[in-house]
Amino acid sequence: MLYYSTNKQSPKVNFKEATILGQAPDRGLYYPERIPTLSKDFVSNYKGWSNQAIAFQMIRPYVGDTIPPVMLNKIIAETINFEFPLVQVDENIFALELFHGPTLAFKDVGARFMSRCLGHFVRGMKKEVTVLVATSGDTGGAVASGFYEVEGVSVVILYPSGKVSNTQELQLTTNGKNIKALEVSGTFDDCQQLVKQAFADSDLTKQLFLTSANSINVARWLPQQFYYAFALKQWKEKNPPVIAVPSGNFGNLCAGLLAYKSGLPVQHFIAACNANDVVPNYFRSGDYKPKPAISTLSNAMDVGNPSNFIRILELFNHQFNSLKNAITSYSISDETTKQVIRQVYAEQQYLLDPHGAVGYISLKEYLRNHEAIKGIFLGTAHPVKFHDAIEPLIGKDIDLPGSVEHLLEKKKHSIKMDPEFSNLKEILLSQ
Ligand SMILES: *Cc1c(COP(=O)(O)O)cnc(C)c1O
Repeated sequence: MLYYSTNKQSPKVNFKEATILGQAPDRGLYYPERIPTLSKDFVSNYKGWSNQAIAFQMIRPYVGDTIPPVMLNKIIAETINFEFPLVQVDENIFALELFHGPTLAFKDVGARFMSRCLGHFVRGMKKEVTVLVATSGDTGGAVASGFYEVEGVSVVILYPSGKVSNTQELQLTTNGKNIKALEVSGTFDDCQQLVKQAFADSDLTKQLFLTSANSINVARWLPQQFYYAFALKQWKEKNPPVIAVPSGNFGNLCAGLLAYKSGLPVQHFIAACNANDVVPNYFRSGDYKPKPAISTLSNAMDVGNPSNFIRILELFNHQFNSLKNAITSYSISDETTKQVIRQVYAEQQYLLDPHGAVGYISLKEYLRNHEAIKGIFLGTAHPVKFHDAIEPLIGKDIDLPGSVEHLLEKKKHSIKMDPEFSNLKEILLSQ
């Protein structure tokens, strides 16, 4: 399998090169030159297979011969060594809980898969690879946990001081070993700017082998297809489900659409957004107009120019009408999100996190106009990650899962720095 750049000005590369490079040199996103079809055997029998066997069959064509099958199997086993339960919430609504991994958010799957692929690719290389990543909260923890103790790779995470939650900060500052956290006295945008400057600095790129672990990397994007097969494997209803995906950068939804195009039965997709409504507006008007992100309760979805949307357009050959047939999009306010978290907890004893809640509400809205259909929303984060926002709504404290309790006993290690590029450069070169 080869990948082309969506800007079409860079040479095609294989999975290994796309993983190491992250973004294409022409600043486009790598995109597979064909979408594989799942075999007849897969489609008829996967419900009886292990998650690991399903994942292997789905990802194999994308990886090609860049990773030997035995190694790929090992990588997959380490990537998905936790549960993905489908839980009934209402009569016609189910949650696929993707938050039982080490950092309690669905990004664990992509981060773990990518870290191990990169670890495999750099084995035997003379230079250590430095993964440089800026985080507004969730990505940092998932990347830190995913890359922890991966040989040949060191990780430097930049995060805005005082602007991530306590749990998130502990997840990215307590690892030690090959993970370094830089606490920047500035905003997320400052962090991202510093990372961009580092990639453009010839002193740094000459001396270090720098790469990024952000969500456009194919090795983070493609394994998200697994969720959809894991959901369908547990689906007992006669008709295929509608699936609602809480969306920010649209990597997860785009992976679901890939799985669908490869042959998984899905009735319809829902792009569930918060007040950042660039995509819902596009579906309404046909005009794609990025705008600055606004802050909401579901902060991991606060994106004003979703980087993966171009891949969704590519998947539908930029045909607006076929896109509209497959996807419906909603924008949900914080007010409604809070009200529904409270209501679903009171009536169904099910606790939604703000991101999952946006998915639930969008699905409910769609089902109101499509009776006799059932659906699934993706629970992308554990509610405990947002306990400050949720506890006042339900009027009680949320129990901490073991993994968080364990974190609270650990000591934070960060290097404080002002958002000056010279500081970052010095830290990177002195490693
Ligand atoms: C990152 C994230 C999302 C958005 O996923 P995309 O693939 O960027 O659309 C949704 N929910 C949570 C909890 C996240 O961390």
